[in-house]
Amino acid sequence: MLLSCKETTRLLSQGEDRKLAFGERVALRVHLAICEGCRNASEQFRLLRVAVKNLARDGDEEKTA
Ligand SMILES: [Zn+2]
Repeated sequence: MLLSCKETTRLLSQGEDRKLAFGERVALRVHLAICEGCRNASEQFRLLRVAVKNLARDGDEEKTA
């Protein structure tokens, strides 16, 4: 099963909120392997997640300081 770019970005954003099914993760991987645009998009999602995590951590540090 091949995903469209639209379906791929939808799964990427859903993956932030819920655990993807095995089949969804595989389909995502396959699409990312062949599509540079979605690879870039998935990298953006990853960076965003790290940035949000860092923000949350900074907030905690401020509270305890
Ligand atoms: Zn794509």
